[in-house]
Amino acid sequence: MKSPIQSYLETLHRQLAALRGGEVASYIPELTKANPDWFGICLVTVDGVAYSVGDAAQPFTIQSISKPFVYATALADRGLAYVSQRVGVEPSGDAFNSISLHPKSGAPLNPMINAGAIASASMVAGQDATRQWARIAESLGVFMGHDVALDDAVYRSESETGFRNRAIAWMLKNFGIIADEPMAALENYFRQCSVLVDCRDLAFMAATLANGGIHPATGQRALPPEDVERVLSVMATCGMYDYAGSWLYEVGMPAKSGVGGGIIAVLPGRFGIGVFSPPLDEKGNSVRGIEVCKRLSHDFGLHVFNKT
Ligand code: GLU
Repeated sequence: MKSPIQSYLETLHRQLAALRGGEVASYIPELTKANPDWFGICLVTVDGVAYSVGDAAQPFTIQSISKPFVYATALADRGLAYVSQRVGVEPSGDAFNSISLHPKSGAPLNPMINAGAIASASMVAGQDATRQWARIAESLGVFMGHDVALDDAVYRSESETGFRNRAIAWMLKNFGIIADEPMAALENYFRQCSVLVDCRDLAFMAATLANGGIHPATGQRALPPEDVERVLSVMATCGMYDYAGSWLYEVGMPAKSGVGGGIIAVLPGRFGIGVFSPPLDEKGNSVRGIEVCKRLSHDFGLHVFNKT
């Protein structure tokens, strides 16, 4: 017999596939090639059961959904004291590419905006940028449960056009937030954004956070428990660009979205979800992705503050 979760997701997918609106991201030229009809959902429970519907195996680039995981890696590698001096945890209310730095220290307001994410990429363990990239790839691979691959065309496209992110990286160097060569750290950030995932990968990454840092299928620890709590906290307050406040109010789960059209949401102790649908609203969040999470939260009373 089909599981009730699978049937629910199939109905939800059928209903929301009809939802129109939003635009595929175009500021990274290569992303315009995404098909606006692609739509996948995957939910993975903390005991490792996966429920998938639609285009759940369609690969796309992770983009900003990499940010919490690389921040997590920096925390695990350098410790809270080191990282918290260089990246804050305050929601900025600004767009993802804003140059939101603390006026005195120059520390980015949080790790979910580009400034904080580029700083995080520069802080993971490794004696040089090549070894730091190996560390980022290894860490993302543990969260995913397999080795990572890059979309080279998206990587090159972003590296060739990412002038604003270059300016941000130089600002970080100016304030001493990035210790070494800022352009090398920035290339690692562009690489991490170009990592290929599908909904299933995202759902396993989210489920690893839901499961206290242990991948539910491989059993490998991706992150110490105390860092899981920190990462989920910044996802809850800063994960959805300048929609983060409304998101927490309406959906109530730690989450992160990316301009590739992906969204992850985490229900601690229960499950992780990965949704993929490329058309984005004006804040950069997947239109169908938001709706999936809203419906799930509402239909099952999943808001983290709802304890009735
Ligand atoms: N690589 C993208 C950038 O830095 C990520 C943006 C996003 O997904 O929000 O512009």
